[in-house]
Amino acid sequence: MLTKANNLLQKHFGYDLFRKGQEEIIQNVMDGKDTLAIMPTGGGKSVCYQIPAMLLRGVTIVISPLISLMKDQVDALDKAGIPATYINSAISGSEMQDRLEGIYQGEYKLVYVAPERLDTPSFMQLLQQIHISLIAIDEAHCISQWGHDFRPSYLYIHQLIDRIQPKPTVLALTATATPEVRQDICHLLQIEENHIVMTGFERENLHFQVVKGQNRDRFIIDYIEKNKEQAGIIYAATRKEVDRLHHFLESKGFSAGKYHAGISEAEKNQYQEQFLYDDKTIMVATNAFGMGINKSNVRYVIHYQIPRNMESYYQEAGRAGRDGEESACILLFAPQDSQIQSFLIEQSDMDGARKDNEYAKLRKMIAYGHTESCLQQFILDYFGEENPPECKKCGNCTDDREQVDVTKEAQMVLSCIRRMDERFGKTMIAKVLTGSADKKIKSFGFDKLTTYGIMKDRSQKDVSEFIDFLTAEGYLRPTDGTYPILQLTQKSADVLRGTEPVLRKEQARIAQIVEDSDLFNILREIRRDLAQEEKVPPYIIFSDVTLREMSALLPRDANEFLQIRGVGERKLEAYGEVFLTAIRNYCEENDVERKGELPIVKEIRSASKSSGGSHLVTLEMLQEGHDIKEIASNRNLSERTIESHLVKCADEGKEVNWDMFIPNEYESLIAKAVEEADTTRLTPIKERLPEEVSFFMIRAYMQKVK
Ligand code: ADP
Repeated sequence: MLTKANNLLQKHFGYDLFRKGQEEIIQNVMDGKDTLAIMPTGGGKSVCYQIPAMLLRGVTIVISPLISLMKDQVDALDKAGIPATYINSAISGSEMQDRLEGIYQGEYKLVYVAPERLDTPSFMQLLQQIHISLIAIDEAHCISQWGHDFRPSYLYIHQLIDRIQPKPTVLALTATATPEVRQDICHLLQIEENHIVMTGFERENLHFQVVKGQNRDRFIIDYIEKNKEQAGIIYAATRKEVDRLHHFLESKGFSAGKYHAGISEAEKNQYQEQFLYDDKTIMVATNAFGMGINKSNVRYVIHYQIPRNMESYYQEAGRAGRDGEESACILLFAPQDSQIQSFLIEQSDMDGARKDNEYAKLRKMIAYGHTESCLQQFILDYFGEENPPECKKCGNCTDDREQVDVTKEAQMVLSCIRRMDERFGKTMIAKVLTGSADKKIKSFGFDKLTTYGIMKDRSQKDVSEFIDFLTAEGYLRPTDGTYPILQLTQKSADVLRGTEPVLRKEQARIAQIVEDSDLFNILREIRRDLAQEEKVPPYIIFSDVTLREMSALLPRDANEFLQIRGVGERKLEAYGEVFLTAIRNYCEENDVERKGELPIVKEIRSASKSSGGSHLVTLEMLQEGHDIKEIASNRNLSERTIESHLVKCADEGKEVNWDMFIPNEYESLIAKAVEEADTTRLTPIKERLPEEVSFFMIRAYMQKVK
């Protein structure tokens, strides 16, 4: 059976191997076992029911909560040569009739519907007249009231399924793995707990970062500027904030879309479409945006404020890099923002127990903002993985920023707050410190304080930002409410007493997520034209990963083209010629020639499944004689990821030949610099060395002498 499934994976989707968990889930479904599949967003859940749908008799019904997702999935299936349709309120009456007739006639292998549809008597009647082998319930956590997205209509699904004879197999799929939700799904859908297939939650291509105590607007502008060509989502907590940010970005000359529940349907659709079609690269949105969005080439997700819990965060952040390409997930953290979320929980109509549950989740989310240890480890631990290793690539693992002593400034701020009796918020405190002539200050007599104007050489904005930094680091505690008052903490008492210094890191570095080659840009343009012609989003034609693999491997003919990841038979037929011609032309014009066979890495891909860790595949390839650049290009990962793989291997006690990364002529220089700098932080060491000595050479040296 699995050989057949594998053939379909290659033929229709252009992938040569199943990802972790997919095989087991497909096998379960084919054996008729009701199953709960838990995989992270982007893990590849769809294939788990799409392939059985082709192998099983009759139709597979896919219950999915969002209309936009259905259309996207059906478009993608159509391009892959799989007959599918969807039924929802967005289609016209006559179209609906045609589709229902088609379902009756057996024209489709997959039919997507919203849960409410099962409640329509005529639709249920139709389902009773056809053969249904499988019911796939996507976003199955919506059935659980402990989930973060409870939908009452999901509760009836099982009763309705019971009315279909013979009983179809049920496959529930979700990315939410907390034990309560898991148990709830199993209980409500009567799935045996030993039929849960749960893959790891790690998304290797995601690079997590928390940025705190910094001006957020400036960070966003710098970030977008550096990653101009890439698509990204910026999540804000409220409609008002989305409107403000959107306006701000447009005023700075960026072309951004926006999305929240308060704008008209027409406007929403227009922005969404522009984003999906790569016409606008930035989307500013509340969490109302995204659940039905399958856009695979989102390269970054920035949270302007913290979301309500880790489930929402991982789901929203996980919308980056569904295609497996390196992508960034950044949280701009300010502790006082948690008040918005507290407020929303308080205002909700949940009962006491659920509210407590939500508060506990929010506290964990805040802890994520504060943690100094590995961010990925924090996430995986939250989702119940045992002893997850450090990722060696998130913002915390790679933080080598300099620290500046700001104890004196901190003491100025803290003592000013104490003199103001800890009864005011940030703006008022900053005004007193900078010596503002505001009338209110006089009326309170604050112009008589010794700290009045003590920081007048700095702007009020600057001082406000510094106060944000002190809050983020726990020197100040914001009270609840819309205008939080800042109070001193135990930590700040030590600073005022002079027993603890305050160190501030330099501004967070802004990285370029991926570098696009000239050929990639050409292929991207072609994809865009085709997408416009065919009225589907570009990523439905080919994912970024597929284009990147084409531009790295330079296929020369149909056979080679078919070996590119993401190229199936139907797509070869439809697009092979135009892409192959573009690649050929580029090679001729630029005098580029690929020698020998296509270095397809089939065995490498398979190794990544069997050997229990991607980092081990890297080590294996290194030992086979490939260098870091080659490994990165072959595996579609960044060089930095490959480097971090090697460090991970060493941490696990594997032998890595570090000498090969340390040029002979620099070894003694590096040794001297390490000794002089007397620190394990890389920047001070690098500053003592010639420009051409890279961070990785230093890291390799330090590993060698460890
Ligand atoms: P999920 O529903 O779990 O969020 P999707 O089903 O949308 O994830 O899949 C995410 C991406 O992974 C899609 O672009 C899909 O084509 C790709 N994908 C799925 N299975 C494989 C595989 N076996 N090999 C490579 N890519 C895959």
